[in-house]
Amino acid sequence: MIKQTLQLELGERSYPIHIGPGLLSLTALYEPAIRGRQVMVVSNNTVAPLYMDTVCEALQDYRLERLILPDGEQYKTLEVLNTIFDALLEKRFNRSCCLVALGGGVVGDMVGFAAACYQRGVDFIQIPTTLLAQVDSSVGGKTGVNHPLGKNMIGAFHQPRLVLADTDTLSTLDDRQLSAGIAEVIKYGLIEDREFFEWLEANITRLLERDTEALVYAIERSCRCKAEIVAADERESGKRALLNLGHTFGHAIETGMGYGNWLHGEAVAAGMAMAADLSARHGWIDNTDVSRIRALLKKAGLPTDPPGDISSDRFLELMAVDKKAMDDGLRLVLLDAIGAAKITADYDHGHLDETLSRKLP
Ligand code: NAD
Ligand code: MG
Repeated sequence: MIKQTLQLELGERSYPIHIGPGLLSLTALYEPAIRGRQVMVVSNNTVAPLYMDTVCEALQDYRLERLILPDGEQYKTLEVLNTIFDALLEKRFNRSCCLVALGGGVVGDMVGFAAACYQRGVDFIQIPTTLLAQVDSSVGGKTGVNHPLGKNMIGAFHQPRLVLADTDTLSTLDDRQLSAGIAEVIKYGLIEDREFFEWLEANITRLLERDTEALVYAIERSCRCKAEIVAADERESGKRALLNLGHTFGHAIETGMGYGNWLHGEAVAAGMAMAADLSARHGWIDNTDVSRIRALLKKAGLPTDPPGDISSDRFLELMAVDKKAMDDGLRLVLLDAIGAAKITADYDHGHLDETLSRKLP
């Protein structure tokens, strides 16, 4: 059996993460997570036609409702969130109901936040259908929506009761979205798992070809890494910030280029290459490490350089508004080695400027 299961250990909020093909239809996987009778499956108009029926069939013994949201980051708003509350109230859903988020990170974040708020908190299940959602957003309990003045600015920590990562759903994902998810997978190798990074160097083509066994392995290893970090620091008071490797640079690229032009994973990929470059300028890693990182990102179909039209000054400006910027100087996630990241404000500002202005090392 190729299915893998791991447990995110958070005391009474612990939950299983199942990874494998064909999971959507396995009723027995859902049952332990659903405490009442009322279940609402929420998806969007791209994913629902593909997978909603399979999920609903598996849950046919419950009192089921379906809700379909519009597809897109621009709909991750309080207005659309309110349509979930409308549906729950119209259908008289009570406190023991369960919401099911079927889709990518946008659906997962919104449905999770709806579950955090509805009647002060109800259960929910994550069924992530993008690679990014399977290795990142569905695990860890961060939920929320965007505000016109900032991304993910309205939200809550609310852990799901279950994560079902069915690798078969990735067959319909477009190549660019797959690569964007691989960026976050590579991130885990860089943060704390050198052996996994080396596995990725050897197996990246299998992932791009969507080989089931390779996908299950990579998703399991990624989730294990995220689950360990979240278990140690659920609310990001310390170690969880390691997960932001490449993200401070990446957010600057996303904002600087206008949201939607670069996918998040693409911006993170270029951001990780920049973090590697800055680390090498301090002598913490060597240039062959930087080359290896860039080569792997390239092979995964990801960018390794920021867009040419963001100046060093503009970069700094965009990075300082990053929500992870702390009062005591901008902390960055940098590398001591492939597989050993650190959070530090102790870097040379001249070197940072060299990285941002893409000076040749
Ligand atoms: P997404 O949810 O927008 O999905 C990308 C696109 O793929 C969408 O058009 C979607 O409808 C489509 N899609 C989804 N599954 C599909 C499938 N199986 N086949 C075909 N098409 C499919 O984007 P995403 O990359 O999954 O998630 C990004 C969101 O996740 C952002 O809003 C980000 O803020 C959030 N996020 C949250 C966390 C967290 O910890 N909560 C972490 C990372 C990202
Ligand atoms: Mg990310």
